[in-house]
Amino acid sequence: MDADHWRRIASDALALLLAASCPGCDRGGTLLCDRCRMQLRADPHEVRTPHGLAVHAALRYEGVPARAIRRLKEDGATLLARPLGAALGAVLRPRAGDALIVPVPTSRASFRRRGYRVPDLLVRRAGLEAHRNLASARLTDDQRGLGRAGRARNVAGSMRATAHGRGGVVIVDDVVTTGATLDEAARALSAAGFTPVCAVALASTPRIRDTVNSSLTDSDMAVRGD
Ligand SMILES: [Zn+2]
Repeated sequence: MDADHWRRIASDALALLLAASCPGCDRGGTLLCDRCRMQLRADPHEVRTPHGLAVHAALRYEGVPARAIRRLKEDGATLLARPLGAALGAVLRPRAGDALIVPVPTSRASFRRRGYRVPDLLVRRAGLEAHRNLASARLTDDQRGLGRAGRARNVAGSMRATAHGRGGVVIVDDVVTTGATLDEAARALSAAGFTPVCAVALASTPRIRDTVNSSLTDSDMAVRGD
């Protein structure tokens, strides 16, 4: 390739960078500033699904992490999958052991809209292998705006395992809200012979959302769209 070609690539890359802004603080000219990058370091904590499956979450879905995750999920900022994948990996790697890492399936509509599967992408960016052993068995309503019971009803029976097998599995999702999606994934994998060991999520939403005085906005709730 000639020098002109490389100059064009460099100038395109520079234009992209100048048009970028940090998802955490909106500072221009950077895909993620150093200060906000620090806030994407894993802060491991454990929550439980309604059926009692342990979920190890890397980040809290608020502030800088929430804005970075929304930009990855809704604005196509796939470069953010690297720092976010690193946070996921810090929690996932020590728990995976011999278990298969199985991401929750992405609905066909979400995949068409984004062109990528967020949980799978995060696992790969963490340097780990994602096994797509789950598929959507039927369409579900949008989880947005549904409460705990509604979400559980909505996802019940919505997944199927793509193959039978044995051994431990660790289920991965991007954002855990009520945990209903992870329970459904565990049900489908158990029915196919696997043993769900635990789940790992990139981020957990604050449990306060279940109270009347929830401080979360509608757009915070809107992220768990599939
Ligand atoms: Zn920033």
